[in-house]
Amino acid sequence: MVEKSSGNGVDTAALFRKYEEEKAKRVRAEGMGQYARMEGKLAHFQADPNAPPLTRDPVSKDVEVAILGSGWGGIHAGVYLRQAGIDDVCIIDKAADFGGVWYWNRYPGVACDTESYVYMPLLEEMGVMPKANYASGPEIMAHAQAIARKFGLYDNALLQTSVKEARWDEPAAKWIITTDHGDTVRAKYFVMTSGSLQLPKLPGIPGIEEFKGHSFHTSRWDFAYTGGDAHGGLTKLKDKRVAIIGTGATAIQCIPHLAQWSKHLTVVQRTPSAIDVRNEHPTDEAWYKSQPSGWQMKRIENFTDVVSMHPVKEDLVNDGWTRRTFAAMQQITPDMSEADIGELLQLTDYRTGEEVRARVDAVVKDKATAESLKAWYNRLCKRPCFHDGYLDVYNRENVTLIDTQGKGVERITATGLVADGKEVDVDCIVYSTGFELGPYTDAPVIPVIGRGGVTLADKWASGATTLHGFHVHGFPNFLMVSITQSAWGANFMHMLLEQGRHVAYVIKALRDRAVRVAEVTEKAEQAWVDHHVSLAPLMSRLWENCTPGFFNNEGKLDDRTARSGPYGAGVRAFVEKLEQWRQSGDLEGLALNQLDRESRQSTSPAHPGRRAETALTKGSLHGAIQ
Ligand code: NDP
Repeated sequence: MVEKSSGNGVDTAALFRKYEEEKAKRVRAEGMGQYARMEGKLAHFQADPNAPPLTRDPVSKDVEVAILGSGWGGIHAGVYLRQAGIDDVCIIDKAADFGGVWYWNRYPGVACDTESYVYMPLLEEMGVMPKANYASGPEIMAHAQAIARKFGLYDNALLQTSVKEARWDEPAAKWIITTDHGDTVRAKYFVMTSGSLQLPKLPGIPGIEEFKGHSFHTSRWDFAYTGGDAHGGLTKLKDKRVAIIGTGATAIQCIPHLAQWSKHLTVVQRTPSAIDVRNEHPTDEAWYKSQPSGWQMKRIENFTDVVSMHPVKEDLVNDGWTRRTFAAMQQITPDMSEADIGELLQLTDYRTGEEVRARVDAVVKDKATAESLKAWYNRLCKRPCFHDGYLDVYNRENVTLIDTQGKGVERITATGLVADGKEVDVDCIVYSTGFELGPYTDAPVIPVIGRGGVTLADKWASGATTLHGFHVHGFPNFLMVSITQSAWGANFMHMLLEQGRHVAYVIKALRDRAVRVAEVTEKAEQAWVDHHVSLAPLMSRLWENCTPGFFNNEGKLDDRTARSGPYGAGVRAFVEKLEQWRQSGDLEGLALNQLDRESRQSTSPAHPGRRAETALTKGSLHGAIQ
């Protein structure tokens, strides 16, 4: 955020000061330490309300690829592996079905804020037309499950199954994966796609365990208590006083439903979200059917290009994510310096903020409430929200907003909560308090134990070390799909499908070369880490002046987050790096231990034979990243 920029009707200096003042109210010394995990006495918050507990006999099997995660990361890896002819794939997930975040997040109003035509993958392959330009959670989950069915991903899957650990067995050259059902899966390759927002968090405040009413986190919505489903209809709340804590992207979507159905709704706000126009409309069937073959990938790439300011001639999506950025791009001329462009972007951001704040004034009748609902930070400090019904909720008589001015809820009592010095009695508390961001958490979701018993958590104590975010030295035949040292953009799906393609390419290439063990060299790993860290200032520049939130690790960016966080040059540059690497065709940076000729002929890839002498590829001898 810059203070100076030529105003053109916007008092940028005043806005700069206001943003700083609002941020100062929210900075907390304890950072992520302010939150509580759903462990110990809070473990029951994690229980899955969507499926009864599963009892089954343990399974013992050998597979070529085990994938942890039945969300979009695992689905894409599975689909592209299948397309590459690799069928012996076992997907394991604690969820009872495919869908990942869309399996867990079924709260009323759940929907995707990224256009359905770029977010819902494989539309052409599946012959599917999204119902509207933004898809609901159930529509996305059904699509995920249809893809999983079509590509046979259910066949060998172990759902409702939590992995206890994944351990590299050196003599067998396999990953031994054990689960809470007593299963043992021996896999040649282990692909971990455990998700970036899969650890829900609660405020670390006193009293949560003492509350005598009903409470749950939005990612474990209890429809048995509220009635209704992801589309609404919370009929059982009509005599209930409900409080919701949090006003992030999730809360924005479920609050209108809570307001409609509860006897009374109290919203506890720490920081308001910026709520832009959504403008949802049904899909124009004629337009959709007129799209030429290959249209979806072009649209996905165009969306990514516009939001990451890569020069393009047109803005195909033309929505709240892209429109203003595309317009700003048209004003960039070749003679502009980086500082000039920075100013232009900041001015665009300030203007967007002003438009969004003006919308609050236009909708919310009570002036004080309207002031409370205005967001004072740069647009990408928190997830931009798009909703056409949220603000109007505060015109309802049965809704009270408690603006805690950045302080948050103070404590939970046996009968309710205390916020902004007010004690409020309620029957139900909904925690819409978000998730830990995968790359910044202090350990992977499961113990991953590599060569010599070293855990990934130990290896990454000072931050991640990978090649392209996928390969880790000391962890052979292991691939990770995450945003750790990989890119992250407004359309998560774009990255996930590219990562799925890459995983399939690597495993197929290793199979074709009859490789028994593949491991990134230390040198190649270090080169990627150096490259990644050199780009980290691009991310920290975006986030360091922001009000705290999970994007900037609650305001605590340091060397560790720089190493573990997303790739600074963005999705497009990252995808290009992967493409170049694949095109070179020599698996540069991976040390390959191949089968000898005899066992290559006699052994299937899933059951490799004896080890040959170590045979390094050309690439592994010079793994430097350009
Ligand atoms: P967030 O982390 O965005 O929001 C958590 C909310 O809880 C914030 O408003 C936070 O306030 C508030 N909070 C935390 N602690 C306290 C406290 N002690 N007292 C009061 N309030 C508190 O989580 P969400 O679940 O809303 O969203 C997470 C992510 O999920 C999004 O960023 C997005 O990536 C994804 N998502 C995507 C959607 C889509 O359309 N594709 C829709 C919904 C979610 P503060 O801001 O001050 O920290």
